[in-house]
Amino acid sequence: MTSYFRPNVDTMAGYVPGEQPKPGTNIIKLNTNENPYPPSPEAIAVLQNLEGELLRRYPDPYANEFRQAISEVLDVPTDWIVVGNGSDDVLNVIIRACAEAGRKVVYPMPTYVLYRTLTEIQPAQTIEIPYGADYELPIVELAAANGAVTFIASPNSPSGHVVPIDDLRQLAAKLTGVLVVDEAYVDFANETALPLVKEFENVMISRTLSKGYSLAGLRLGFGIANPKLLSGLFKVKDSYNVDAIACAVGAAAMRDQAYKNACAEKVKASRSKLAIDLKQLGFELRDSQTNFLLVQPPTHKNSAEQIYLALKQRGILVRYFKQAGLEDKLRITVGTEAQNQMLLEALLHLV
Ligand SMILES: *Cc1c(COP(=O)(O)O)cnc(C)c1O
Repeated sequence: MTSYFRPNVDTMAGYVPGEQPKPGTNIIKLNTNENPYPPSPEAIAVLQNLEGELLRRYPDPYANEFRQAISEVLDVPTDWIVVGNGSDDVLNVIIRACAEAGRKVVYPMPTYVLYRTLTEIQPAQTIEIPYGADYELPIVELAAANGAVTFIASPNSPSGHVVPIDDLRQLAAKLTGVLVVDEAYVDFANETALPLVKEFENVMISRTLSKGYSLAGLRLGFGIANPKLLSGLFKVKDSYNVDAIACAVGAAAMRDQAYKNACAEKVKASRSKLAIDLKQLGFELRDSQTNFLLVQPPTHKNSAEQIYLALKQRGILVRYFKQAGLEDKLRITVGTEAQNQMLLEALLHLV
């Protein structure tokens, strides 16, 4: 049989996103780490007042209005920022710019599965190095693997832990390739690795508006790095990778830090409460600096997979990964207080 596709496309699995039920269906959706609260009213106001003229023209290739807002909020120069159609786009662009057959893309496991998918498309070689038993970063092994790109999600998914900045600093100093610190969940964390971009030319921080800013549907993310590192990315990215709506709405959301922080505080308070309630039901879990918990249910009644399926039948979606080391766990997004209560009531019958 001949194939239309390149051999690596034929053999790769393809990324499987979490289930996305139709809007309006009566489902408690705790499977893809969306924020349970609505986007900033300031951002919605911008959306509702958009002029058609904005859409007639091509958008700004550099999304400068949004870059300006990021620059003010994070105190980084605009030319240290690259904007993407979601942070997935930024991750994709860095792989396309740096990796190819014969080069390696390296990351600790378990982590965000998209790193593997994007690398296999390129194609480049993936090197997956297990985390330590207590999620210690395997610095020596990661450095020895000598990746063209090394990805560290911090806070990490699905574990929820933060990698200490000193570990990232040690790793960055040892690498000759690029270190990407994926801070998709930073808005729910107590620390950031952002200072590293000033210390190391080979470090990029990526962030998203999908989680902390409740704008997963908008598709907007960005990378921060030395302009020397960004220069290659600007050659590779689609010229118009960020649409005019996302740029305008995103700028308003970014400027409304007070709203974003207030929502994050609610999520963090609910996260602590949910963790205590789940422990009381016999679940084992670690501290999380994200908007989800990775939990191990007690096994005397149902397996993690059985619980996932039973919850789904009751209209509650959580994430189950059929993956080495995760088969006995569930990743549960922190919802509103009411959603978390309904989850707990359902679990009462299942564990
Ligand atoms: C959700 C997530 C992203 C992707 O975010 P988008 O900006 O929506 O593309 C990136 N990295 C990690 C670890 C995530 O969990």
